Amino acid sequence: MVVLDDTRAWEAAASVPDPEVPCVSVAELGILRWVRMEGGVAVAGVTPTYSGCPATLAIELAIETALLEAGFEARIERVLSPAWTTDWITDAGREKLRAYGIAPPVAGAGKAALFDSPTVCCPRCGSENTMKISEFGSTACKAHYQCKACAEPFDYFKCI
Ligand SMILES: [Zn+2]
Repeated sequence: MVVLDDTRAWEAAASVPDPEVPCVSVAELGILRWVRMEGGVAVAGVTPTYSGCPATLAIELAIETALLEAGFEARIERVLSPAWTTDWITDAGREKLRAYGIAPPVAGAGKAALFDSPTVCCPRCGSENTMKISEFGSTACKAHYQCKACAEPFDYFKCI
């Protein structure tokens, strides 16, 4: 008999890739807050990233499906407070973003957003000599940048 405990539930839910950035999992992105067993039901706490991010529903559905496939009854609880910030992305998640060609958010830059433009390093060559091409990249959560050193265009995961 398979024991349906919260560790297994966490592992099932945590393995779900982010639908917009499939190289990182929802756990690495920090949007999966916790999974706990409540009366035989695995309840996953999910904090949406950007408010109104259309991916939120898809993420919740994917986590629920992963739990069901692992043999759990599942429920998603949306955790709105505290609000998600890019600081919640784990170190492993940041590494994967970079390897995927997306510049990870600059830690703490969200708070300085009023004064704008953090130094964004090129995920390919590491140069700080980059420029913003557009406020919106492949999704609203990312800005489009180009490296002036190696000419690589890339997405920057915006800070909030
Ligand atoms: Zn570069």
